[in-house]
Amino acid sequence: MPELPEVETTRLGLMPLVNQTVAKVVIRNASLRWPIPADLPSLLSGRTLKSLTRRAKYILAHFDDGVLLLHLGMSGRICLLAEDEPPQKHDHFDVRFTNGQVLRLRDPRRFGAVLWAGKDPQQHMLLSALGPEPLDDAFNGQYLHQQLRSRSVAIKIAIMDSHLVVGVGNIYASESLFRAGIHPQKSAKALTRAQCERLVAEIKSTLKDALAAGGSSLRDFFGTDGNPGYFQQQYFVYGRANDKGGEPCRVCSAPIKMIRQGQRSTFYCENCLSQKTIRSSK
Ligand code: ZN
Repeated sequence: MPELPEVETTRLGLMPLVNQTVAKVVIRNASLRWPIPADLPSLLSGRTLKSLTRRAKYILAHFDDGVLLLHLGMSGRICLLAEDEPPQKHDHFDVRFTNGQVLRLRDPRRFGAVLWAGKDPQQHMLLSALGPEPLDDAFNGQYLHQQLRSRSVAIKIAIMDSHLVVGVGNIYASESLFRAGIHPQKSAKALTRAQCERLVAEIKSTLKDALAAGGSSLRDFFGTDGNPGYFQQQYFVYGRANDKGGEPCRVCSAPIKMIRQGQRSTFYCENCLSQKTIRSSK
């Protein structure tokens, strides 16, 4: 599913729409994760897009008198197209602008969301309980250590909890734990302050690498066709489990292990953890 770097790259790709005025809103299929509000066409027509921001994996499109929340769900993709581009099967929602461009949501599995959040989006039920952004200073070793004290779940589960920190999806959880030399099944409350410092640094570093890859591939990623793309990145452990015909550990060449945690696949290198071969990836 699209993770934070893909969402941020999508936001950047939509920036040409800022200061443009909505001509028309087209809802072809309102049945997303929540129904697209039926009054959205009348709410948005004639309104000017003031800015585009991001909170967790939500894109916030700020208009004169309220904010449109966009979420890509499991399989969604937002394209910026010319208005005469014919819609395809899973193109459920368009915002057409007076300059001839259209923001189009394509979402085969329909777990995405298009919602009106009014003037104070941070109070919206989907945003109000979210933890800090991973790249903000508020997400630091002291904060993580304090938050983990009361959590007996595995650390991989804990860092994927959006109440603790947002935007650490499955790929980045496995990668940053590997880079920090921490076993994904370790009890969250057993992490030392030093391990928390290290893990925070690796989460930030892993996400920054992905964001940089996204920036460099913006044009391809934001193209008009194809499936939701992932940035071309070489992961240390994610997707490399050997029993799946994958590749060995990039550090020690041992087979990568894959386990299930919370219905998601976790990848790690037992050998690197036992040998403590991971020092610093940077
Ligand atoms: Zn290894």
